[in-house]
Amino acid sequence: MRYVTPMTDIFLHNSMTRAKERFIPIDPANVRMYLCGPTVYDRAHLGNARNVIMFDVLFRLLRHEYGENCVTYVRNFTDVDDKINARARQAGRSILEITQKTIQWYLDDMAALGNIEPTHMPSATQYIAQMITMIESLIDKGHAYVGEGHVLFSVNSYSNYGALSGRSVDDMIAGARVEVAPYKRDPMDFVLWKPSDHDTPGWDSPWGRGRPGWHIECSAMAKDLLGESFDIHGGGNDLMFPHHENEIAQSQCAHPDAQFAQYWLHNEMLQIEGKKMSKSLGNFFTVRDLMDQGFAGEVIRFVFLSTNYGKPMDWTKAKAREAENTLSKWRKTCAAVDASEINKDALETIKDDLNTAGAIAHLHAIAARGDAGGLKATAQLLGLLDDGMGDWATSIDLSKWENMLSQARTKAMETKDFSEIDRLKSAFVSAGLDVRMSKTDVKLVAKAGFQVDRLDGLD
Ligand SMILES: [Zn+2]
Repeated sequence: MRYVTPMTDIFLHNSMTRAKERFIPIDPANVRMYLCGPTVYDRAHLGNARNVIMFDVLFRLLRHEYGENCVTYVRNFTDVDDKINARARQAGRSILEITQKTIQWYLDDMAALGNIEPTHMPSATQYIAQMITMIESLIDKGHAYVGEGHVLFSVNSYSNYGALSGRSVDDMIAGARVEVAPYKRDPMDFVLWKPSDHDTPGWDSPWGRGRPGWHIECSAMAKDLLGESFDIHGGGNDLMFPHHENEIAQSQCAHPDAQFAQYWLHNEMLQIEGKKMSKSLGNFFTVRDLMDQGFAGEVIRFVFLSTNYGKPMDWTKAKAREAENTLSKWRKTCAAVDASEINKDALETIKDDLNTAGAIAHLHAIAARGDAGGLKATAQLLGLLDDGMGDWATSIDLSKWENMLSQARTKAMETKDFSEIDRLKSAFVSAGLDVRMSKTDVKLVAKAGFQVDRLDGLD
């Protein structure tokens, strides 16, 4: 008889209860999760990528535990937003051009980071009818009202408002930048629908030509694709208030007998070299920026997974270099090996609230034991060492060219003639290599698009 290991449970930290809880899906044959996706007007920055990687690990784990076809993962695109309108005006391009291009960038970047595509990736503009239906039902039930072409959600009509972020309505008014407007009965009330002028995208509605507020789109799309009650909802902790709080209010009031999301997962924010990432500090990086600097998607992913999602993460170049070394070593170990069994201890660690940092510690131990098949299988559960994303580490050994450059430098130090170094460097760069020279070390790193045949004839 084949020994079957008993399935242990997954535990997740639920922001709603502020406790780590055993995960029990509503329907194990269809585990359902929703992640708030990007507003598509610009390249995804590093912070945008963190919850995508975290949810990707969760998606892989749930598929492993419940079956590949038993998990439904929805991540939306917000393709109607005033930031998009402003970007289109500024660039002199159509809104559709901006959103379509940005969506493609996003998909490319997320794929480069090793993320599996979600089951559904709805765009808000495809769900306007569902949003209008939900808004009408909120008005009918007395949770929303019309004022000057706007429809507003009445926060006072929902007694549980604030339960997720754990704040009272009074605290929120004091702390939040709530907009006071003549069409609002209460400053906390938020927009479900707003009027559009001729230059702004708009759809016909019972309240005139207009467009939806941001929060209603997630409620409408989650209901349509996952049902009134589903399992997991997540995003960055900056979305907890007001976005998630508002989603809960809308969905619970529209479907009072349902539960909306059972588990709320929020990741902590991200820093760069110990500082907050901001445009004014000049350390605002998109995913593409880092890849252009020569960091492979897999390396970025490894650095992210080295810090658990519930902790603030610090992106540093030193960590990225270390990740590069580790991954290229592991890739060599696994090169000609098939994935075998997932390591049980590592799996238990991931099941403990996605302890990816702990799982990586197990990977080091598995690698040290020389268990290449186990290393590969276990790493792949984290989306690492996948066959498709190792081009950067290429089986191509770059040490020959590193030695060549290193010798040229030694010689140049004596002769003071640096022309050979310049020749080599420019050849490496045009082949798609990143050249990193320190006092003691010479390192070449293959960037996306590296063409080894361009180095032919160099020696
Ligand atoms: Zn959302």
